[in-house]
Amino acid sequence: MRPEDILVPTPSGVCCKIGGFHIDPTRPVERALITHAHSDHARAGHGAVLATPETLDLMRLRYGENFAGTTQAVGYGENVTFNGIRVTFHPAGHVLGSAQIAVEADGLRIVASGDYKNVADPTCTSFELVPCDVFITEATFALPVFRHGDPDGEIEKLLHSVALFPERAHLVGAYSLGKAQRVIALIRKVGYVAPIYLHGAMEKITSYYASRGVDLGELRLVRGATKQSLAGTITLCPPPALNDLWTRRFPEPLAAFASGWMRVRARARQNGVELPLVISDHADWDGLTATVAATGAGEIWVTHGQEDALVHWCATRGLKARPLDIVGYGDEDEPDSAGEDGDAT
Ligand SMILES: [Zn+2]
Ligand SMILES: [Zn+2]
Repeated sequence: MRPEDILVPTPSGVCCKIGGFHIDPTRPVERALITHAHSDHARAGHGAVLATPETLDLMRLRYGENFAGTTQAVGYGENVTFNGIRVTFHPAGHVLGSAQIAVEADGLRIVASGDYKNVADPTCTSFELVPCDVFITEATFALPVFRHGDPDGEIEKLLHSVALFPERAHLVGAYSLGKAQRVIALIRKVGYVAPIYLHGAMEKITSYYASRGVDLGELRLVRGATKQSLAGTITLCPPPALNDLWTRRFPEPLAAFASGWMRVRARARQNGVELPLVISDHADWDGLTATVAATGAGEIWVTHGQEDALVHWCATRGLKARPLDIVGYGDEDEPDSAGEDGDAT
């Protein structure tokens, strides 16, 4: 068997014809295996959906109970077989419930990573290296300029600024699923115990994380707080809210932004960000190349992001590599990404 006999890349995602399923399809299909709940990977309207219990819960929170015809929860390490094709979910370390999906037949193993990071994160299970013959990798930050560094150092910067400007309100723009909860957990890890405020659009997902045992401390909604009471506090909000009339309810708001793109200063300036925080839920250049090498895969398929640089790097290492050109995967880490939760207060 060749890899293409097991998984065929199509413009709307990779498809396993023999097994009768797609992985993270961008159009409605009969049976979808979903790596994680970000909206470009997890869409509503499929016949059957298989995903980790957390991903299914998060999809329910976003799309409502009837987001798919049927659902099947698959835990990490559990096996499911479709017409002789064996499928296993493994932790991807990206957000709560995120999985890499291993597809095996005839002694050949292909791993579709979805989005991933090989860095510790207090809000989700750590990335698991799965040796394979073909590795399907993302490429969001696949340029040598992207080195995310230490997230704890970025949190220190934030807390230093809060201590320095007790009269101001610190607003931290962060993607609503994953990043916001990770930033809160990192703040708690260094012993900050004051209440942290939330934009209303983050309420549901953040409560879900807390219900899954992620320690987020005392959280309050901005809604209902007086302007003066918000001086010296930290508030998490979806990135677009930073440039919204919504910020007027805060005393002297200071805009921070947590994203891998904050490595690029021009991007921070463009978005009016005073305090850029380089914190990403995607692997950086070193993380991507180290992971690709460690899988032992001889063939690499590259999805969404900076495909060219990574394909070139693979070629210099003697690895077969190709971009997949799937249309419709976005980047939740983009400063100007609207975030699917919109501008609700
Ligand atoms: Zn993602
Ligand atoms: Zn993605």
